Order: sequence, then C-alpha cells, then structure tokens
Amino acid sequence: MGLQINGRTKLAGVVGWPLGHTLSPAMHNAAYDAMRLNWVYLPLPVKDESGLIQLCEAARVLPFVGFNVTMPYKQAMLALCDEVAMLAKLAGAVNTVHCVDGRLIGYNTDGRGFLEALGSETDFVSEGISVAMIGAGGAAGAAIVSLILGKAARITIVNRTLGRAEKLIERLGDRVHGTQVSVALLDEGAADVVRSADLVVNATPVGMSRDDPSPIPSSWLRSGQVVADMVYRPEPTALLLDAAAAGATTVGGMGMLVAQGAVAIDIWNESAQSRTPRDVMRAAAAEMLSGSIATFEELGI
Ligand code: NAP
Repeated sequence: MGLQINGRTKLAGVVGWPLGHTLSPAMHNAAYDAMRLNWVYLPLPVKDESGLIQLCEAARVLPFVGFNVTMPYKQAMLALCDEVAMLAKLAGAVNTVHCVDGRLIGYNTDGRGFLEALGSETDFVSEGISVAMIGAGGAAGAAIVSLILGKAARITIVNRTLGRAEKLIERLGDRVHGTQVSVALLDEGAADVVRSADLVVNATPVGMSRDDPSPIPSSWLRSGQVVADMVYRPEPTALLLDAAAAGATTVGGMGMLVAQGAVAIDIWNESAQSRTPRDVMRAAAAEMLSGSIATFEELGI
C-alpha cells in the first residue's frame, strides 16, 4: 500500500544521537504498512538532554502513539517519564515510551526481545541455566531481568567496571528470586566463569566497529554453549566467528532488534496478542542494512 499521510496519521519515532544509521524507521514503517496502521515512524535526533526534554514536551501534545529511545538517552529517559514499568526500573533503562493522554509511560522491551530471539533461533530454555553476561549497562540489565523471570540458575555479570555491575545487583534487590547473581571483573580471572556458562552474552558495544576484536578471548568459548551477541552490525561479529569456530551455537543481534521493536508496537497498539509481523520487519532491516554496507564500502570505511 505504501505510506499515506493524512489528518489522522499518528506519530512514532526513535530519539537518540546520532541516528544516521538507524534501521528502526525502515523496520517500523514496513510493519505499520503490513498491519494497515495509519502511523508513521521518524528519526528524532536530539543532540543533548535539553533537546530530549523538549522532545518529551512535544510528545505530550502531538499525536504520538509513542517513541523508542536509544543511545545515549535510555538512562536519562527514566526520570522524564510520568510512570515507569517495573522491568524498566530494574533494568535501569527505558527504550520504549507509550504516550497516553499527554502522559509518558516508560517500558523496556530489550529483555523480552532478547529472550524471544534466543527462543526462536535456538532450542534455548532459560530455566536452570548458567549465564555469563558481558556488560552491565541498560541492555545487560534488561536481559538479566528477563533471564531471572525465566528462572535461570546463575548469572555472572562480567564487566570492565566492577562498581557498575554491583549497582545493577543492588537495583535488582530481592527480585532475583531463585537466581544466584554475582559479579566478576572482565579480565583473565573471568575465564572459568565464561567457559563454564551455558549461555554467554555480549551486551557491550564491542563489535560495532568493523575492526573491533571480540570482547573476550576465543579460548574462553567451547562447544555446547550458546553465544549471543547483542551487536547486530556487522554480522557476524568477531565474537560470533570465534564461537562458531569453537563449536558453539551462535545468535546475532538482529533477531533481538526486530523483536524489541515488535514488542514496542504491541505496547503502542495496546494489543494483548501480538500480530506484529517480525518477518516483514526483519526483511526491511536486512534490505536497509545491505544498502548501508554498500555505502560503507563506497566510502572505503
Ligand atoms: P550501555 O548502557 O552504554 O552499556 C555499555 C556496557 O558495555 C557497559 O557495561 C560498559 O562497561 C561496556 N563497555 C563499553 N565499552 C567497552 C569496552 N571497550 N570494553 C569492555 N566493555 C565495554 O549500553 P547498552 O544500551 O547496554 O548497549 C550495549 C550494546 O548492546 C550496544 O552495542 C547496543 O547497540 C546493543 N544493543 C542491541 C540491541 C538489539 O536489539 N540488538 C538492543 C539494545 C542494545 P563499563 O560499565 O565499564 O563502562
């Protein structure tokens, strides 16, 4: 059908900086078209937090169904919402805002997206497993909360800065239920914890640049593990190449990107049962990605 804007078109978008390479507009607009939603999804680049505050005020008065929040504002968005869902509070980051009668309700869909992608791309079950989570930022927090809800047995947060991992555990408080959560510094001392884990996750940005090494040595990986990288571009990352060479099952970040976007649409659409077409979103993102890679190559980057 294609995009047809009229007086009843509702707005959605992604706020962040920079947004030059975002795949979200392509993914979302393709889904709205397939679902016959009279919505349009726009990039909303704001340079600093005062811009973010102004954007929030605009979203209260314009016909926004909601907006996504990406780097570097996922943490700052927590304080700008009128209400924040428990999952987002525990994760310490908001990636989705639902606009309801001028109010901003914050959610985090990264954790659900992460588990959905793992479940659909492998025969992964979180109950009873041990996890090594590399990174302690918003995406790690969201994935950890979902893994706790999925009854993982043990999660070790392996981070460059121990204090940030400890703060994440503090935030989780007594909501860790039966899951044992601990921290480890990202150095040689973490080798055994990573090697013995059933699931190893990269929740750091290491891998986003073409020349990036893996965030961990290849000798820490083994067959029988599932190794998931939240980085979706380039795919496969150095981590996933090492994991495949070690005989591990690999999961790239694209499935998570699609699923977290689809869950956001479900929230805005107020639908208990998702009808958001993941395949349409994935195809749109892949098409966009192949175009941008050609551009990188043309530029010699
Ligand atoms: P964030 O809040 O900024 O956290 C980044 C984490 O990575 C921190 O723990 C940081 O450690 C660590 N880190 C950063 N640079 C590092 C380096 N050079 N070596 C080792 N550790 C490093 O970021 P985020 O929002 O959690 O996002 C993390 C990654 O996940 C990003 O690449 C993002 O694109 C990706 N992501 C993907 C999806 C998806 O849908 N596929 C969704 C969300 C996020 P310190 O605490 O020591 O600074």
